Amino acid sequence: MNIRKIPLIVLYSALLTLPVIAADSGSDLDKVEAKAATSKTTAKADSTAAVHHGITKSYSAKKVAEHTYVIHGPLETPNANNKGFMNNPAFVISDAGVAVIDPGSSVQIGRGVLVHIKKVTDKPVTMVFNTHVHGDHWLGNQAFLEANPDVKIYAHPKMIESAKAGDAESWIKNLSKLTEGAIDSTEAVIPTEALKDGQVVKLGKLSFKIHLNEHAHTKTDAMIEVLEDKVLFTGDNVTAKRIPRMDDGSFRGSIAVIEKALKYDIEHVVPGHGQTGSKTVLSDYQNYLSTIYKTVKILSEEGLEAFEMKEKIAEKLVDYKDWRGFDDELGKHISLAVLEAEQEDFE
Ligand SMILES: [Zn+2]
Repeated sequence: MNIRKIPLIVLYSALLTLPVIAADSGSDLDKVEAKAATSKTTAKADSTAAVHHGITKSYSAKKVAEHTYVIHGPLETPNANNKGFMNNPAFVISDAGVAVIDPGSSVQIGRGVLVHIKKVTDKPVTMVFNTHVHGDHWLGNQAFLEANPDVKIYAHPKMIESAKAGDAESWIKNLSKLTEGAIDSTEAVIPTEALKDGQVVKLGKLSFKIHLNEHAHTKTDAMIEVLEDKVLFTGDNVTAKRIPRMDDGSFRGSIAVIEKALKYDIEHVVPGHGQTGSKTVLSDYQNYLSTIYKTVKILSEEGLEAFEMKEKIAEKLVDYKDWRGFDDELGKHISLAVLEAEQEDFE
């Protein structure tokens, strides 16, 4: 055998295999995953994997409007099994390129989102929007900078500020812990393009209208409306079949933001977590929040303490008892609503 041929063959097969590994189901990555499943060092072993396998194998990108696709993630909190994948990464394909909204918790998930995009279009991702500072929505940015050094990454100015001021670091730590290291090798790629309320960002023929607010789910929320597709990306200002944490949120602010959104000329609502739907996605979540807030005010006037309210409020929210996180969050939401209502009295 001619020895000189060997390196060529190796090189050739490597070239053939490489895009497959990068794209999805490379055999080496399968081995890593198989090992991960049987070993106690699960997440550590998998942290070497380039692409999040769950997102590419078990999820698909659903076309929700002419140019808009959403990968609906599971209604879970981050853990070693989902490796942090739990949000709704989305992409919008224009004639001039692709815009991504909320590419997920890690570089591995971001690369998985890119695999889905490549199945639909060869156009490059030229812009990324982040809806708020919570890391499960934006730490996947890294994958898009990696794929295109000229990508523009947009967010609320306060999102950029808080990410820089320590939120980026603490989210990486937090997600690394919750996923037992599955997101490791993720670096925070903080957005550089500060959005303005009412701004319209153009990408070829498509227009992305930006809605900023002071305080809803957080103080860093941007909602993105794709005018031509009549789509609204709400971030966690709205969720479906899942009760989000409100620790950084405002009941009154959230209710008001949804009230405004109900008037937009939209047909499709993409919540931060849960399935895309019509405007009822907005009103269902708004009803949850306003039921808590209104009832808390009434019961406070009757002299009840937060801990005495839970049963009465749960009765009014029976339609939501199957929403993920209901039992865990309701007590906390009532306490937060009580504080906010007391605050309101002083205004
Ligand atoms: Zn959030």
